Amino acid sequence: MLNETHDPALRSWVASANQAGADFPIQNLPFGVFRRQASHEQWRIGVAIGSNILDLSQAAEHFSDLDQAALAACRASNLNQLMSLTPAVWHSIRLQLSRMLRQGSGLQATLEPLLLAQAEAELALPAAIGDYTDFYASIFHATNIGSMFRPDNPLLPNYKYVPIGYHGRASSIRVSGTQVKRPHGQTKAPDAEAPTFGPCRLLDYELELGFWVGQGNQLGQPINIEQAEDHVFGVCLLNDWSARDIQAWEYQPLGPFLAKNFISSISPWVVTLEALAPYRCPAFERPADDPAPLAYLDSSANRSAGGLDVVLEVSLQTASMREAGQAAEVLSLGNFRDMYWTFGQMLTHHASNGCNLQPGDLLGSGTISGPNKESRGCLMELTWRGQEPIQLSNGEERRFLQAGDELIIRGWCGNADGLKIGFGECRGVVLD
Ligand code: CA
Repeated sequence: MLNETHDPALRSWVASANQAGADFPIQNLPFGVFRRQASHEQWRIGVAIGSNILDLSQAAEHFSDLDQAALAACRASNLNQLMSLTPAVWHSIRLQLSRMLRQGSGLQATLEPLLLAQAEAELALPAAIGDYTDFYASIFHATNIGSMFRPDNPLLPNYKYVPIGYHGRASSIRVSGTQVKRPHGQTKAPDAEAPTFGPCRLLDYELELGFWVGQGNQLGQPINIEQAEDHVFGVCLLNDWSARDIQAWEYQPLGPFLAKNFISSISPWVVTLEALAPYRCPAFERPADDPAPLAYLDSSANRSAGGLDVVLEVSLQTASMREAGQAAEVLSLGNFRDMYWTFGQMLTHHASNGCNLQPGDLLGSGTISGPNKESRGCLMELTWRGQEPIQLSNGEERRFLQAGDELIIRGWCGNADGLKIGFGECRGVVLD
């Protein structure tokens, strides 16, 4: 539902928030955790506005109508407490921030000292992540990957019924900017008799969105699809770095393990579901001969507005490009609305057996690939297992990631009329 915080005409007294195409206009107001660079300050919650961060712990002094629990959550060192509160509290905080940061609020002189330039800040993981689950919600990705291994039968029979996922590893999730050390592991060449242990040779990325669980559910109490979105605090960018050669040897019979958990990177800013309200869209339109979702995964609201229109761009800057001062080159451009399963369906399915989700849990969407070659969300698909290398404009080619490569994911909603709800960036440089 749209409200005054979504008004495209709103302008902030923070000038950088009003620039056309800025990631963080006053209509966005994402949350993160920050401190001054190279300091030993306490981590604290901030709200991105233009190229600045507003210190929420101090801005909260000027809030009204918030109870002690909500005020304490604003002054915490991560977002877990805030995530555990209700959508009504999240809305109240967003509304008050919007009113305080607007032109003419009368609070500019009071709040300006609470701003820190993002360039002077260090950002941390937004929350303590209890559990991380990664889904597989793009039918285009699943079909592409499946067809490499089973050309006659790319999609397994469960795909159109079950939002497929696996339990990932929360301890190795890092914030954007963390370097990615090439993992070692067991790999076996198809013609080799036995595996060897050594550096991964087929290092890949996976373009994904991450959904932050807000309020949890009690063990044994499923979450109805109608309430699913009340349990989602916000969204970030996610790169599920993947070692394809390790994965190929280890994944049967229990699924991904060490090929996936050496690091996963996320963007530092959590864009709230409320900020994304103007960009909701119908769920993926299933072809006529596909089965309808089972009743517990279906609702009219999910069908009409369960989707999310987020543009996602992946770009690469190799070490030679960086040395030559050459900008990163775009590898793919996709959109989250192409996902076969909505995030509401993923969350409902996750809790459908009574599994309890908790504030700060992270649900990965799975690689976001669309119907076209330009919208494939990983190198495995873009280069078709390395058979069709990408030609970069400086003459280099890539099948998989090499040392010095920096992979950059960006995402945004809107932008046609100059108003953009940006997710910022999720970056990582590969090191051997
Ligand atoms: Ca993945």
